Amino acid sequence: MNATDHFIAPTLALHGDLVFARVASADAVELDYENSLISPTCYLLPQREAVFTYAMADGAPPEVRAVVPPESDILFGVRPCDVAAIEYLDRFFMGGEFKDDVYARRRATKTIVAMGCTGPQNETCWCTCSHAGPVARNGFDLQLTPVGDDYLVEVGSERGMALVEPAGDLLTEAGAPELLAERDRLVEASWHKFGCQGNIAQAMRWISGDDTPEELWQELGAKCFGCGSCSLVCPVCSCFDTYEYAEDGMGARIRCWDSCHFPGYSLEASGFNPRETASERMFHYAHHKLCYDTFSKYGRPGCVGCGRCVQVCSAQIDLPSIAQVIRERGRQCRDCTAHAPVHEGAGET
Ligand code: SF4
Ligand code: SF4
Repeated sequence: MNATDHFIAPTLALHGDLVFARVASADAVELDYENSLISPTCYLLPQREAVFTYAMADGAPPEVRAVVPPESDILFGVRPCDVAAIEYLDRFFMGGEFKDDVYARRRATKTIVAMGCTGPQNETCWCTCSHAGPVARNGFDLQLTPVGDDYLVEVGSERGMALVEPAGDLLTEAGAPELLAERDRLVEASWHKFGCQGNIAQAMRWISGDDTPEELWQELGAKCFGCGSCSLVCPVCSCFDTYEYAEDGMGARIRCWDSCHFPGYSLEASGFNPRETASERMFHYAHHKLCYDTFSKYGRPGCVGCGRCVQVCSAQIDLPSIAQVIRERGRQCRDCTAHAPVHEGAGET
């Protein structure tokens, strides 16, 4: 750990809400916690940030200035679903032909210390379904998993090793195969505790093959308030908007979170909107999260099973429910739908 690193960890905020925030002492760190409503991915893709700033003087072209470099943070206690979301964001912003410098600069300053789960944190977790948990298989610098009274510590990178080395006597060499086997046994035993056990692969197949009925999207669109909350809390959703802010001779280009549920999201300058109705926007949202194209580009579905959309959608249209209703009403396959519970409300008119 460098002297300049900030320590961001799960801690209690006003009214007892669990948040990821800078902590000054170990006493403030929560070690037994339900995941936060706002993902720690907000330290990589903040709700609002300046992409660049500029000074303006009469008659002169704007003088572009760099923004303040991001600070170094150790993100401690990141749950495996959010580790998977960071991997997705890395591929989205840095894995293609064009690299997003703003994201890349931020990402380079973050060290990820994961906290593996040995069971669901609450009834909305469905990471077992979206192959993102309960423990991370990669994507972390260090991962801690509670095993009895101890923590199994796994090193995932040189950065992680640099954190372990100064720990000295605090750590003891694991009887690695035995402790790993015990961790895996605990994880395996926890699978039946996850409420939604249906595999989203079937939903991916139906939606990718355009095998979902139009009426389904009309029903879901009619229920949706268009509030965008599901995308705004989703650690995988990466859409953003940009706008200019200028005052007293200084300006900044700001980028901020956006949602494909907002009517203005796809509105073109001509006034034409290719996704004018809520049902079209609902289909786009679900299709982008579940289609094969997303899987082949980013190595996973656009969902890591964190359950946050289940917690915030007042219309009860969350992604687990959408996946379930697609499986039921897409091309029928009774064997595949036999085991998955239906979230009350999804798909009803
Ligand atoms: S699905 Fe739910 S959370 Fe998402 S925009 Fe619609 S009403 Fe809001
Ligand atoms: S779609 Fe819902 S459950 Fe999936 S990652 Fe996003 S917020 Fe979490």
